Amino acid sequence: MSESVEQTPITNKEFPTHNAILDVQQTTCCIVGGGPTGAVLALLLARQGITVMLLEGQKNFNRSFRGDVLHAGVMEIMDELGLTERLLQQIPHTKTDQIEFIISGQSIAFADFSQMKTRHPYMTIISQVKLLEFITAEAKRYPNFQLVMGANVQQLIEEDGIIRGVRYRSHGGWHEVRSHLTVAADGRFSNMRKLAGIKFNKTAPPIELIWLRLPRNPEEPGGLISRFGRKRILVRFNTVDMHWQIAYYIPKSDFRQIQAAGIEAMQQAIVEVVPEFADRVHYLKDWKQTSRLSLEIGRIDRWYSPGLLFIGDSAHVMLPLGAVGINYAIQDSVAAANILIEPLKRGDVRLSHLAVIQRQRELPIKIIQAFQYFMQTRVTAKALTSENIYKLPPYWHIPMLRDIVANLLAFGVNPPHLKPEYKLRDYSDN
Ligand SMILES: Cc1cc2nc3c(=O)[nH]c(=O)nc-3n(C[C@H](O)[C@H](O)[C@H](O)COP(=O)(O)OP(=O)(O)OC[C@H]3O[C@@H](n4cnc5c(N)ncnc54)[C@H](O)[C@@H]3O)c2cc1C
Repeated sequence: MSESVEQTPITNKEFPTHNAILDVQQTTCCIVGGGPTGAVLALLLARQGITVMLLEGQKNFNRSFRGDVLHAGVMEIMDELGLTERLLQQIPHTKTDQIEFIISGQSIAFADFSQMKTRHPYMTIISQVKLLEFITAEAKRYPNFQLVMGANVQQLIEEDGIIRGVRYRSHGGWHEVRSHLTVAADGRFSNMRKLAGIKFNKTAPPIELIWLRLPRNPEEPGGLISRFGRKRILVRFNTVDMHWQIAYYIPKSDFRQIQAAGIEAMQQAIVEVVPEFADRVHYLKDWKQTSRLSLEIGRIDRWYSPGLLFIGDSAHVMLPLGAVGINYAIQDSVAAANILIEPLKRGDVRLSHLAVIQRQRELPIKIIQAFQYFMQTRVTAKALTSENIYKLPPYWHIPMLRDIVANLLAFGVNPPHLKPEYKLRDYSDN
């Protein structure tokens, strides 16, 4: 079973000597982390002629068990970039217009996207790997954009209290990037946070997810479905390659017991929640086909310091509920681009600019995290500890609530849009 491994920050003793640095490059904005946050911000800046360097630690974008859901908030941003049509033509995807809960055989819509006032009243399920390849390919059309894969950032360059860039390791050596602004978009286990000495305030409910995939029968309708069993919840969504991506929720304390009982016990546990999977659980043969994720919800207090900005998961980590991580991360990138493009062009990014980004994004993040926390304590935790199959309180059956939840997940409070001058010039199709 694979687990995410946190990187250890390099100590001063390992500081490379000047001779050990293979090359030094200059850029206006150095973005660390080529996930959805970093890739979209890089594209937005590159389109405006700003010199951008995107450093991604992995050698490729392949990543399993990541968010493959784009909400309407992101699709509207794709509209503003003039990319929606090409994105959906080039990359296989499916659409689903609700998040469904199945409890004691009864189905209810937890969120209904079909009534939203948008061109995209649904969730788009699309491979995150393909999305990142698409966004970075788009950015590569601009000569002022540079992507370095396999660039593992391990040091900040600090001079007079200002971050002036980073050092990364790649191809067996150290490389230095000097920049006017450095953006940390290196995800939930952010090494940049540790390098900058920034405290991450988090709560970790005693719950784990076991991610896995099982084949999907052609006649099974797709969707994002949470099925509640006794002390277990199984969430699944259809992938475009005819599989179900499955998140199996268990109390953390149960994992050792489940693992000790063997993979057959895991197969049986899945069937107990979703009996129709009895015909295919044998595809799960080894724990290596699974991935564990401990639930966490958290934020940093201050998203910036002189020369350095944190956005996306490096600034705030969400629960998986509602599949909103990518949405809120890309919205951060848009808010940041709106504020930073002109100061970056002038080479005059100030702390006050960075503070505005945090001010704009912190409230929507706090609200969605509060909602997720409410759901986690009132629904998930109860369902995982109660001897009886959980029953949703009657208020969840109020139709208006499904619409409110859908809007909160899809857009959040005060969703950012690209400033008109940064939208595609001939954008006119709605
Ligand atoms: C198992 C799992 C399932 C998820 N499911 C969903 C879902 O269904 N829907 C949803 O919306 N969200 C989901 N999320 C959350 C979603 O993936 C994140 O919210 C989103 O990817 C955040 O984007 P990001 O760019 O900020 O961070 P990330 O996507 O984590 O990207 C960070 C990038 O930084 C790179 N990096 C890290 N350290 C360094 C370094 N030192 N140097 C250079 N590069 C570095 C990483 O390789 C990575 O590519 C899931 C997350 C996980 C872990």
